[in-house]
Amino acid sequence: MSEWLLVYDGFDPDNEGLRVALCTLGNGYFATRGAAPEARADDVHYPGTYVAGCYDRLVTEVAGREVENEDLVNVPNWLPLTFRIENGDWFDPGRLELLEYRQELDLRRGLLTRVVRARDGTGRVTSVTQRRFVHMAQPHLAAMETTIVAENWSGSIEVRSAIDGTVTNSGVARYRGLRGDHLLPVDEGEAGKDGVYVQVQTRQSRISIALAARTRATIDGEPVVNGASVSTEPGFVAHEFRLDLTAGAPVTIEKVVALHTSRDLAISEPGLAAAAAADAGGFAELLGRHTLAWDQLWQRFDLPLDGHGRAGLILRLHIFHLLQTVSPNTIDLDVGVPARGLHGEAYRGHIFWDELFIFPLLNLRLPILTRSMLNYRFRRLDAARRLARAEGHDGAMYPWQSGSDGREETQTLHLNPKSGRWLPDNSRLQRHINLAVAYNAWSYYQATGDVEFLRFRGGPMMIEIARFMAALASYNRALDRYEIKGVMGPDEYHDGYPDAERPGLDNNAYTNVMTVWLLCRALEILELLPEHQARELSDQLGLTTQEVDRWDHISRKMLVCFHDGVMSQFEGYEKLAEFDWVGYQERYGDIHRLDRILEAEGDSPNRYKVSKQADVLMIFYLLSPAEVGELFARLGYPFDPDADVRRNVEYYLARTCHGSTLSGVVHSWVLAREVPPMKGSTSARWRGPSTSSNAAMAVSPPAAASCGSTRPCPPSFRPSGSASTTAATASTSALSTTACEWACCRRWLRRSAWALTARWSTWAGGTPTSGRWLRLARRRQQEKRSAPRPNRRNPVRRTAFCMIRRWPRTRSSGNGSCSVRSPAWPTSCTWPRCSSGSWPRPAGWWMPATRR
Ligand code: BGC
Repeated sequence: MSEWLLVYDGFDPDNEGLRVALCTLGNGYFATRGAAPEARADDVHYPGTYVAGCYDRLVTEVAGREVENEDLVNVPNWLPLTFRIENGDWFDPGRLELLEYRQELDLRRGLLTRVVRARDGTGRVTSVTQRRFVHMAQPHLAAMETTIVAENWSGSIEVRSAIDGTVTNSGVARYRGLRGDHLLPVDEGEAGKDGVYVQVQTRQSRISIALAARTRATIDGEPVVNGASVSTEPGFVAHEFRLDLTAGAPVTIEKVVALHTSRDLAISEPGLAAAAAADAGGFAELLGRHTLAWDQLWQRFDLPLDGHGRAGLILRLHIFHLLQTVSPNTIDLDVGVPARGLHGEAYRGHIFWDELFIFPLLNLRLPILTRSMLNYRFRRLDAARRLARAEGHDGAMYPWQSGSDGREETQTLHLNPKSGRWLPDNSRLQRHINLAVAYNAWSYYQATGDVEFLRFRGGPMMIEIARFMAALASYNRALDRYEIKGVMGPDEYHDGYPDAERPGLDNNAYTNVMTVWLLCRALEILELLPEHQARELSDQLGLTTQEVDRWDHISRKMLVCFHDGVMSQFEGYEKLAEFDWVGYQERYGDIHRLDRILEAEGDSPNRYKVSKQADVLMIFYLLSPAEVGELFARLGYPFDPDADVRRNVEYYLARTCHGSTLSGVVHSWVLAREVPPMKGSTSARWRGPSTSSNAAMAVSPPAAASCGSTRPCPPSFRPSGSASTTAATASTSALSTTACEWACCRRWLRRSAWALTARWSTWAGGTPTSGRWLRLARRRQQEKRSAPRPNRRNPVRRTAFCMIRRWPRTRSSGNGSCSVRSPAWPTSCTWPRCSSGSWPRPAGWWMPATRR
């Protein structure tokens, strides 16, 4: 098995939807689903093309209410290319006898190949081979090459190559009751000798979208088109021509397409830009540059996965799709990371907190991309301030779902397809999205040492968010603790207390602990920026001493609730009923979406100890045990990094059904941290699931990545039916396997991060290797020359230090310094502690020193 090829043999209408999504090709500017070129949207096929950041709003009446939704728009389909023999039926593999049907996605080159050999009713055998790509180096271009061989017949065919702007957003069944007719036709027609174009406009956002296509046919490199004509309908254009085929002689048709929108920079108008761009080179020439661009991307992003079979393929597939959603072509676009990439219409292309799981990969490999996407958030800081004001608070409140202009895009009603009922959607109460934005800004700064960013972008965002989170916290005099009430944590199955009239929960552990983390960082920013910049920032934001004082107080007095020796996901969690995992799994099989199942039964997950996804465990995903220990010490709660992490992981893993795919990522990470470090020994044994059902999955974890742990996999990673089944074996065995694979892959990621960390530490400590480092070094020299300030720290060294301190081998010496030891940096070195510790500050510094 190659870890670079995703191969499908045969045509499987039932699973075509998944195949089409996984065969999507994109370049960070736009993406096109892997639908068959001759297919139109129906119950089996769904072609779709999505441009990053291209949104439109429509209003629909639902259950007597007007519902407004913003969608990532399905733009005109550039794929259509089909043919018919001697005025017969248009080519449709579904109606022919299939002799071969194969699809191959080449991850290394970003190339999708489809081979179809079919016999028609009169015995004519025709083979069609199609290759296509969405250009990674020229972001407005895509190309498709179709080779047709008449195997046992000769005759003429009629070819139709079209652009279809009559498409709608109708890819998600449960949204079909809502309007999706976003495109208005503007213009269509012929462009040059062998080209056609379509121009449309989105209804509300009035984005102009233009596509131009050039179609050429050759036999042995010689042009062979006869009787070309162009036909049009509003929003649709087709280029038609005839070809004479001789048995056994391949004919090749190349379609090169250009796509522009009025959001593009450096163009006069999308129609002109598309027409000009479509006049690009031929398929082979374009493919050369495209392949080079992918090659360069893989040099940055690949992990040493060769020889690891399916696990390696799966991990590469993830990286591949990530890079098709955000790539160097995304830099400078005003876009974030949509939850489902540019691959389909689920979640309407909205931007949630998912970048929290993506930026760590980008931060170390292409930080300029993270910076660009953090700018998406920064540009919407004013919108976030307005949202906070509307809630009666200071600071900035980012919306749970964000789209074009940063308003809250979360729907107020959602449909349970199981019961057919429209229900209130309270998920906007997930204020923790703000903590994710702040965490991302801080992590980018840690990875790059980009102080300018911190001063002008990250700092203002983090401080405004800190302000908002502090405003949410109210002081409970009786407890002498601060509380945050009426919110939701990441676990969307709990949006309120059982039978309560109002939605929202109190003291979600993740929200409270991360608020403390954020307040510490906000205080730290003011300390670590050069003094005049810290003053500028605080003047700009109107920070007062009392406010900063209150942050400090909250960061020491926030409430965290506990029960049974673990953190309570929220206050009162312990009073909820245990859930009948085994019974429900027996009854329903797949119980990932327990919310839908229970609602359809007239019940609610709010009554049970059942989580959709990691919630408390997010704390251990984002912070090392040492960092959690520091925060808990600050709060005056006891914390044992070994026993407490393990207890929390085991407790919540047994009560989570992984209704969100994010859950597996978090759990595998916390488990990977839990197991002893990899020895690199190929003889180490994988101690995960070992039943025959698991073996049947043909997933043998990579030998070199074997964890060597003597602990068995935690309960919900065990395949159901194993002897040690517990309540938590509700997870399906497929999920179990995936989770174990993830755990395995995360260890690889971690190892590669170690390697990168080593590189950073060399850069940070020694020779500057890039312009940025040179600039930083120069700045350091200038700073040294100016009057010494005890609180100024070297951002570059600090960066390396902070990155390293995230790994478990970092030990806090407890005296204000950290001892750092890494395999790549074997000598122990001492740096001042970089978070929430006491830093010497210059005399007369305006912040109160007493509480540090
Ligand atoms: C999860 C959220 C996630 C969203 C988009 C939901 O199912 O609960 O945490 O942000 O999907 O991926």
